[in-house]
Formats: sequence, C-alpha cells, structure tokens
Amino acid sequence: MGVWEIMDYELAIIGAGPAGYSASIYAGRSGIKTVVFDKIGGGGLALVSPNIENYAGFESISGADLMDKMQKHASKYADIHFIEEVKNITKKDNLFTIETTNKIYTSKAVILCMGTEYRKLGIPGEQELQGKGVSYCATCDGFFFKGKKVAVVGGGNSALIEAIFLKQIGCEEVYLIHRRDQLRAETAYENEARGKKVQILLNKIVEKINGEQKVEYLEMYDTKSGNKSKLSVDGFFVSIGEIPQNTLAKDLGVKLDERGYIIADKQQKTNVRGVYAAGDITGGLRQVITACAEGAIAALSTTEVLGKAYPY
Ligand code: NAP
Repeated sequence: MGVWEIMDYELAIIGAGPAGYSASIYAGRSGIKTVVFDKIGGGGLALVSPNIENYAGFESISGADLMDKMQKHASKYADIHFIEEVKNITKKDNLFTIETTNKIYTSKAVILCMGTEYRKLGIPGEQELQGKGVSYCATCDGFFFKGKKVAVVGGGNSALIEAIFLKQIGCEEVYLIHRRDQLRAETAYENEARGKKVQILLNKIVEKINGEQKVEYLEMYDTKSGNKSKLSVDGFFVSIGEIPQNTLAKDLGVKLDERGYIIADKQQKTNVRGVYAAGDITGGLRQVITACAEGAIAALSTTEVLGKAYPY
C-alpha cells in the first residue's frame, strides 16, 4: 500500500534520481499527494558514481549509498513506482493523464526529472562489442577487468572518475584517451589520476574498436601528427558525456534549448503551465546538489497550480 493509497494524484514526478527524490520530500511534506515513476530502479546516473565527494555533509559517499538514503527518505512522503515507465503524458483542461507500462494515472502538476543517458561514440565496433568489453559504466563492469588493461575515452569529470576507479580496483593498466590537448575535468581529478599512474593520452581520437568475440585493440590517430596507432586493451569505457532524455517533454510541447535540455525558469517552471523540470534534464551544472535544489524548488512551485499555499 502506498503512502497516499489512491490512483489520482496532485503531482506526478517522472524520474527517481536526486531531483525526483528531493521534489518528493518537499511535495509530500507540503501535503501534496505525490507519485514518482522510474523506468528502472531509481537513483539516475548518480547511482553508479563510485564516490561522491562534493555533496555537502558527506565528505565521501558512494552514489549507491547516497541514492539508497534518498530513496528511503523520499518513500516516507510519496508513492514511488519503480520499473514503471511513463509512455505518454497528455494535458486536457488542466489535468494531466499519465500513461505508464502498467496503468493510467491523473495529476494536476508534473515535474520532469528524467535526467540524461550516456552519449555514444558512434564508431565501428562500439555497438557490436557492447557487453563484450565495451561499457559505459566502470562501477557496473569494472570488476571484470581486474588485472587487465583498459582504456577510458573522454576528458570530463566522469571519465577521470572512471579511470581513477578502474585503477583503484586493480586494473593492470588504465589509459585515459582524450581528443584535445587539455582535459575538461576539474584539476583535483586530473591530479588524482596522474598520482595513481593513469596514463593520459592527449590529442587522440579512437576510430575503431577491434575484436572477434571481445575487445582486443583500439585504432587511434593523433590529431597533431596525424600518426595512426593501435592500443591493446581488454576493456573500453566510453565516458563522453550525456544526452537529455527529453521525449516526454517534447511530446508535451515543452520548450527545449538547442542541446535538447528543458528550458525552465528560476521557479523551475517550463512554458507549459503545470509542467516543471528539475535536475540534469535542465542542463546547467549537473551536480547531485543542484539537482536536489531544483527538485525542492519545483515541488514548492507546483503549489501555484494546485491551489495550495506556498509553505515557506
Ligand atoms: P562532459 O563534462 O560533457 O565531458 C565530456 C567529455 O567527453 C569532454 O572531455 C569531451 O571532449 C569528450 N567528448 C565528447 N564527445 C566526444 C567524442 N565524440 N569523442 C571523444 N570525446 C568526446 O561530460 P561528463 O564528464 O560526463 O560530465 C557531465 C556533467 O556532469 C558535467 O557537467 C560534469 O561536471 C558533471 N559531473 C560532475 C562530477 C563531480 O563534480 N564530481 C562528476 C561527474 C560528472 P571536449 O573536452 O573536447 O569537449
């Protein structure tokens, strides 16, 4: 039995990552009947972060532990439906109809917190060897490469964190391959990676992933010299950023920016009345702490269309 024990809700939150959990807590505590849907098990991309060191109050905590705490906290205030994907949302007469893989629900407000998914390289071998050495998540698959050679492609925080993690769990050799001469990641991550003897290869573009049954070697070229080279690896981790999961937003007529992120104002309102957005789906800093803050603001902003007093 859920917290609210009914099928018609005042607020539906799509996506149970940090933004969705935080929105649930603020909405539930404001007396808003809230349901949360997540197509998988919740936690969003933060779930697979091996170590989060910049969420205030926690000097160091794994993404899984932090998401577990948030889930337990949020489930005191909202009905959370895991493995229930929202297929379609329509709006008529200020009421939203939410069609999921299980049922049809209604709500008077919606907060979109669908986050992002991993960007693909789109090179030969990537799709064919996915699950056979090509991975998008070191926390999930790194264990299989203990004592082996791996490469991570990307120059942002995520790529550096993945490389550090792979070294920590005992990969024999970890290469970080980046297409430019400068990393995008914070200096702290770069220093840590260099300190842990991650081999950073700059100005290199991976063109092809080779292997029969599993990944065997990469073909690369140097953007400065034009020289081609091969690198033998057992595992290849793609960490080149994310793309917003915006289909539901598009279908609802919500305005997106040129990169596909939802445009929301300071109250997290979108251009569609009753529709709010929070977390990575709005672009911006894409941090757990900012996702939580946006979730809180979005939840309280819904009071406007729910005819409730703003509680703060
Ligand atoms: P990101 O910061 O967007 O970095 C993506 C990296 O992939 C960039 O270095 C980019 O190269 C490279 N790249 C993109 N397309 C490529 C391609 N086709 N081929 C080769 N390389 C390619 O992505 P992210 O590291 O996943 O991080 C996403 C967001 O989450 C960021 O805002 C980040 O700060 C945040 N984040 C924060 C933390 C933290 O603070 N602890 C941890 C993880 C993520 P260029 O540099 O040349 O563009």
